Amino acid sequence: MDRALATRHVMQANKSKDTGPELKVRAALREAGLPGYRLHWKKASGRPDVCYPGRRIAIFVNGCYWHRCPWCSLPTPKSNVAFWEEKFARNRARDARNYDDLVRDGWKVLVTWECRLKRERFSPTMEALVAEVARADGHQEPCVIEVGAPPAWHLGVARKRLGRHGRR
Ligand SMILES: [Zn+2]
Repeated sequence: MDRALATRHVMQANKSKDTGPELKVRAALREAGLPGYRLHWKKASGRPDVCYPGRRIAIFVNGCYWHRCPWCSLPTPKSNVAFWEEKFARNRARDARNYDDLVRDGWKVLVTWECRLKRERFSPTMEALVAEVARADGHQEPCVIEVGAPPAWHLGVARKRLGRHGRR
């Protein structure tokens, strides 16, 4: 990939809002009786994908590729390696800065990942998210937590560790 093309991809990616996983999360929050959220709210640092100002809850639904999901360990492009590594490092640093700013402003930050909202992981991840939002009264301890069911390969590893007796 040449640099101009790479840059165009980056520009397109940075514009992406309202992605599939975000829409699914919002629908599930409404179904759970938790409407009243704000989307990409300018008054919250980093414009969280979804936030509840009254509850001081900010939710980030991170795409695994651009935000460098710790679970997926996706590969870096083979050409322009330095460019991509710098780009990804900047993305990670920006995320960390946004989370820090929100915590300083008294928010509880819930971070979830695209891969944790896929297939059979969706329901357990949403249950955990909904529980966090529902119990937040705006006076909880500000912090950053990762929310979500572990990906299937992780469960596979856990099963392997349990050995034959762990299988059903
Ligand atoms: Zn992932």
